Amino acid sequence: MSTEEPKSYQPPKQCLQDRVILITGAGSGIGRTAALSCAAQGATVILLGRTVEKLEAVYDEIEQAGSPTPAIYPLCLEGASEQDYQTLATTVEQEFGPLHGLLHNAGLLGQRTTIANYQAQIWQQVMQVNLNAQFLLTKSLLPVMKTADDAAILFTSSGVGRQGRPFWGAYAVSKFATEGLAQVLAGELDEVSNIRVNCLNPGATRTPMRAVAYPAEDPGTLFSPEQIMPAYLYLLGPDSKGISGQSFDAQ
Ligand code: NDP
Repeated sequence: MSTEEPKSYQPPKQCLQDRVILITGAGSGIGRTAALSCAAQGATVILLGRTVEKLEAVYDEIEQAGSPTPAIYPLCLEGASEQDYQTLATTVEQEFGPLHGLLHNAGLLGQRTTIANYQAQIWQQVMQVNLNAQFLLTKSLLPVMKTADDAAILFTSSGVGRQGRPFWGAYAVSKFATEGLAQVLAGELDEVSNIRVNCLNPGATRTPMRAVAYPAEDPGTLFSPEQIMPAYLYLLGPDSKGISGQSFDAQ
């Protein structure tokens, strides 16, 4: 497969069998669908998020589908300390052993306003969830990913993380930084580990966040989260082995 084609990947049955994959923001939107899809492909999924009821609903759906039993890890990425991430890493290592996949999906939209009007507190909140939490989570989980024979870290980017646009404030800046973090990390892990690191821009997708960002838009015109899953399954699974440090579009 060419590296240009994650979006047209046709996942073979059970392409994530025997893999353990942690997904942030797994309770709704793209994260929820990624959790269901990874589980349907045989992965044991660790559902991380801040709203336990939403995670429980996803857990139940996975169980009902007959997929491998997932795990729930409640964590608020805004308030979590470095120690909290360390505790998470220890738990993952003890309960699951090697971690094969890490999908940084959770995100906050923040304000849609000018830089001149942007509230400093919301700026920090968005940077904390969309960027700093990714750094802390990645740092804590690297050791347990290094013990896997093959592992993938996937960051979630955005169109406004590649070309700045007015009124996207901290969200856009956090996505630029995410692309940078992925590039730095990919270079550091290249040839000294079995971990590959890539970025994926979902593109306009029918989720609660998109509805807030574009209230006047007809959601029926958008891709569903299910439609963008091929790229996620490709970049998290064994078929993308050897591909690292790149940024892709899911649509
Ligand atoms: P949603 O708002 O539907 O989902 C975001 C998820 O992040 C939710 O599960 C939410 O949890 C979780 N989250 C937010 N804050 C925290 C926190 N402090 N701690 C833990 N979890 C948190 O958005 P999408 O599914 O649309 O977005 C998923 C990713 O895709 C994001 O990174 C977004 O930036 C990106 N993206 C989306 C696009 C789109 O068109 N939808 C386009 C480009 C990029 P809870 O539900 O409990 O609040």
